[in-house]
Amino acid sequence: MLAIIRSGATPVLADVEPGTALMSVESVRRCISTNTRAIVLVHLYGQMRDMDAWQNLCAEKNLSLVEDCAQAHLSSWREGMSGSFGSAGAFSFYPTKNLGALGDAGMLVTQDLSVAQAARSLRNYGQSNRYHHEELGLNSRLDELQAAFLTERLKWLSKFNEQRRKTAKTYRAGIKNALVKHLQEPQETCSHTHHLFVVICKQRDALQQYLFSNGVQSLSHYPVPIHKQSPFLEIARDPEGLVSSENHAATCLSLPCHPQLSDGDVNHVIQVINNFNGCK
Ligand SMILES: *Cc1c(COP(=O)(O)O)cnc(C)c1O
Repeated sequence: MLAIIRSGATPVLADVEPGTALMSVESVRRCISTNTRAIVLVHLYGQMRDMDAWQNLCAEKNLSLVEDCAQAHLSSWREGMSGSFGSAGAFSFYPTKNLGALGDAGMLVTQDLSVAQAARSLRNYGQSNRYHHEELGLNSRLDELQAAFLTERLKWLSKFNEQRRKTAKTYRAGIKNALVKHLQEPQETCSHTHHLFVVICKQRDALQQYLFSNGVQSLSHYPVPIHKQSPFLEIARDPEGLVSSENHAATCLSLPCHPQLSDGDVNHVIQVINNFNGCK
């Protein structure tokens, strides 16, 4: 949102699909006007889905596709990696991401030389050549130290993603409770890197409390949708509303899903959830 606004564009919020919490193509269609220039697609929780539909829509309406890959390091869909489908892909290396630095860091990927040149200049005060500033840029350089940490951690990324997939598979097979629903299965194994493993529960807060009292931490990603945040109460949106986003925000819960979980940890989470019998 901040990047969209900072670029001088006007964001319009589309709704999500209830089964995946990924952005809905139908909702985006309702949001498109003659002013629309680009679609920002978030590969939420690490999942890529239906990329042909997004590429077709962008081609049909002559729009740029910008991928938010902050949760989707090495996620792929058919032959393509996250970040390779649009005009540009933005990665975050915030410490909690699948690939994280020890502080803030990020990366932009693109196959468009003009986008690459613009990004190189913007990150460094708008300099094209040293001490020649052709535009108003930012200080958005990646520290050498963070780059060094990331280069080392990059070696673990595939293995860690594999570990997350294994945990997700065990959760899917093991969690059986009528009060707790799973999101849809990924389309292909590699299309999901499980930055988060999210379940849906109408009694979300009670479930979270129950997990906590049994030694399991969980979080909600995310409890307040953008259009309920004070700076965005009046923001433009799908004319049919954002009902699925609101429902998702009220019912989503992220279970522990990181590469350091042991089989015993995962089985404990499953047991606790399967024992949950709702509010008394
Ligand atoms: C973390 C995250 C961001 C922000 O990344 P920063 O590195 O903090 O700028 C943006 N989008 C998604 C989906 C994220 O998970």
